[in-house]
Amino acid sequence: MATTTDIDPRARAVVRALEGYRPGTPIEDVQRRFKLRSVIKLASNENALGPSPKALAALRGASASLHRYPDATCRLLRERLAKHLAVTPESVAVGNGSDELLVLALRAFVEPGNEVIVADPTFLIYALQAKAAGAKVVSVPLNELRYDLEAMRRAVTARTRLIFIANPDNPTGTYVTARELERFLEGLPSTVVVVSDEAYYEFVPARNYPQTVRWIGRFPLLVTRSFSKAYGLAGLRVGYGVARPSIIRALDAVREPFNVNSLAQVAACAALDDRAFLARTQRLAAAARRQLVPALERLGLRVVPSVTNFVLVEVGSNASSVADALLRRGVIVREMSAWKLPGFIRITFGTPAEHRRLLAELKRILKGGIA
Ligand SMILES: *Cc1c(COP(=O)(O)O)cnc(C)c1O
Repeated sequence: MATTTDIDPRARAVVRALEGYRPGTPIEDVQRRFKLRSVIKLASNENALGPSPKALAALRGASASLHRYPDATCRLLRERLAKHLAVTPESVAVGNGSDELLVLALRAFVEPGNEVIVADPTFLIYALQAKAAGAKVVSVPLNELRYDLEAMRRAVTARTRLIFIANPDNPTGTYVTARELERFLEGLPSTVVVVSDEAYYEFVPARNYPQTVRWIGRFPLLVTRSFSKAYGLAGLRVGYGVARPSIIRALDAVREPFNVNSLAQVAACAALDDRAFLARTQRLAAAARRQLVPALERLGLRVVPSVTNFVLVEVGSNASSVADALLRRGVIVREMSAWKLPGFIRITFGTPAEHRRLLAELKRILKGGIA
């Protein structure tokens, strides 16, 4: 990733001012750096079970057509998603990861100088891409690690065009309820589009979590979801957005024609049919909430209640040294200073074996009292 000092002086001023996004450290980097054979990555909220087997099988057949451009309209996948969601295909957009839909929403709805409201801290891409679009980013602090929708509504001005809500939130793992979100949407002027980023939708066990797809006719709402997390396809880059057709057409107008590659389209269709894999993924997350979370608490750590496939864990003022010590032992977790949550680390749920290794290393590190 570029740092400010790397960026060519001829680049736009907003681009030169960007801080850049630091992704989770890849396994191969840690293996090479610390000469380790076995490294586990619990850092990027990926699926611990690997990719959906049905998606893998579908991919094998699809590679013979790689000389062809992909379907620019993602017709089969959009129809499949529409059926799955009980909406029309005209209400669905597909992106190169759900990240792309966030960028398209900015491109379609935000002029330079307009305001975009985000929580602080939250998913870093919102502010980064809003700044790149030349928007003014208005940050509203979380309240006890939850979105403060009341305060976000008060931050709306005549210049506000877009509001990003990560629901559930990353990195906190918390969520806003149906009642909270509905009241918030009812209180907004009609000039504002709200993005409900639901990358962890499939993991949420809470009954009072909103079913936002049912609201796309009522509110100017763009619901985004991902194949990267619950379906295990992060490497293929595919996600989707659901909104009223006029909003989908605005996104379509500003996207590149072949934004979603053909393998991603085929794999996503197959993954949607892989109910057994989704159920296993959900069971694994439920088991981690029941087993890993109490085990972390027994180590004396505060764990923020999560409805996702990861947890934010308060380890104290030496959190970045703890993350570092874990890294040197071959366990990659996410250190949180980029989010201005310096006392915390974020841990993605893994397999039971990965949890045992994480807990053993954590115990050793915490006992050793590393500086
Ligand atoms: C992982 C994540 C995404 C990105 O998903 P992709 O579909 O891989 O682009 C979006 N939003 C949040 C909050 C995430 O954590």
